[in-house]
Amino acid sequence: CGVFGIYAPEQEVARLTYFGLYALQHRGQESAGIAVSNGRDIQVHKGMGLVAEVFSERILKELEQDGKMAIGHVRYSTTGSSLLTNAQPLVVHYQKGMMALAHNGNLTNAGELREELAKEGAVFQTTVDSEVIVQLIARYGRGSLEDALVKTMLDLQGAYALVVAAENKILGMRDPHGVRPLCIGQLEGRYVLASESCALDTIGAEFVRDVQPGEIITIDEEGLHSRQGFPAQKTAVCSFEYIYFARPDSTIDQLNVTESRRRMGVELAREYPIDADIVIPVPDSGMTAALGYAEESGIPFAQGLLKNRYVGRTFIQPTQEMREVAVRLKLNANAQVIKGKRVIMIDDSIVRGTTSSRIVELLRKVGAKEVHLLICSPPVLYPCYYGIDTAEREKLIATQLDREGIREYVGADSLHYLSEEGVQRALGGLSVCLACFNGDYPAGIPAGTKEKWEE
Ligand code: 5GP
Ligand code: SF4
Ligand code: MG
Repeated sequence: CGVFGIYAPEQEVARLTYFGLYALQHRGQESAGIAVSNGRDIQVHKGMGLVAEVFSERILKELEQDGKMAIGHVRYSTTGSSLLTNAQPLVVHYQKGMMALAHNGNLTNAGELREELAKEGAVFQTTVDSEVIVQLIARYGRGSLEDALVKTMLDLQGAYALVVAAENKILGMRDPHGVRPLCIGQLEGRYVLASESCALDTIGAEFVRDVQPGEIITIDEEGLHSRQGFPAQKTAVCSFEYIYFARPDSTIDQLNVTESRRRMGVELAREYPIDADIVIPVPDSGMTAALGYAEESGIPFAQGLLKNRYVGRTFIQPTQEMREVAVRLKLNANAQVIKGKRVIMIDDSIVRGTTSSRIVELLRKVGAKEVHLLICSPPVLYPCYYGIDTAEREKLIATQLDREGIREYVGADSLHYLSEEGVQRALGGLSVCLACFNGDYPAGIPAGTKEKWEE
């Protein structure tokens, strides 16, 4: 998911949030929502689909009124089904007035917290774990909202980057491991929060800094205030943000996503020097890594695959059948470039293996002489409990087949994965989560889940 927040009474906050969400669209295409506070109450509009489909000029105008601050959310479901009731921001009335919340990440103890709250009489309207957070904040809401967030943070486990709008301020907080990104920007003396810096660039805000793990940010009429809600734990930013999820023009925790991907390509070239005629990316996520590989190996870069830019991310389609159709709709091989060539093809990751096998087939059909598939990450062996949909364990192809089996399944002449050390080198020593590759979960796992998935 993607979150955005802005405090700027003199600006059109609904429209700026709309643009901010537009820039974060890659983080979720299932639903979008904006909540605007005018200092008295909060208006919200949410809908299923893309930002551009959910909002119209008329809706933005209605939302704006005399809006002073706003938050927004784009969703891609990891918990709770794909329904409008599960769309965010969630808006509630509580003892101190109204509050809206938008959450990116997954809690690992949402089930227990939900049970406890329900025992005490809380009712739930959605199936998303984010509602648990709203309930906790409301329950602790007797004092200041900051105090309520501090107390809430003590109860939460897992990953969360969130923005909250109350009547006269917005708040942001990032879990103590900093798994999901959240950054601060400045716009004409006012402040903005966003999942990724590309959203700040889009609205013309200047990047200020990343929210620190465990930090709570308040933005109000006086400006920006910070408070450490919980001692920062060993930082564990999601490595998948760099490998695949984040937009290449974003900088997360001081590391530019494009640069990290270029370095992954360089590392791949060092680990797997292959005799070939061209290096091609699987667009868009393999793009910069392929450039890095070409640069390091001296093998020419070529655009052998063309992407239909009007098709969304295929992975997000809910069913397996849909996914396969979507791959063909999305990509085409350029025969002129491929025919008779020994091809190195670079992609970010193999999850289910469907995408890779389709693409190798495309390349063969147009006459590729050899296809070597190189992947910018290690095999995905463990599910993510922190908000990225890497599928259930049995659906991860690397849990079912060894490397040779996967190579055969995707139909490549050779298949190589970047090592964990290679990823780490590419990320320049940043302390990251690599749990989907090594099963080492920095922020814990849900109760009842097998620790290391020993069979
Ligand atoms: P699969 O191996 O499951 O067929 O597809 C993996 C490919 O899907 C990756 O190369 C990546 O580019 C793309 N993809 C799209 N959305 C996601 C996502 O949310 N998580 C992961 N892991 N990969 C995704
Ligand atoms: Fe990211 Fe993988 Fe960790 Fe999930 S398990 S937070 S996808 S690195
Ligand atoms: Mg306004």
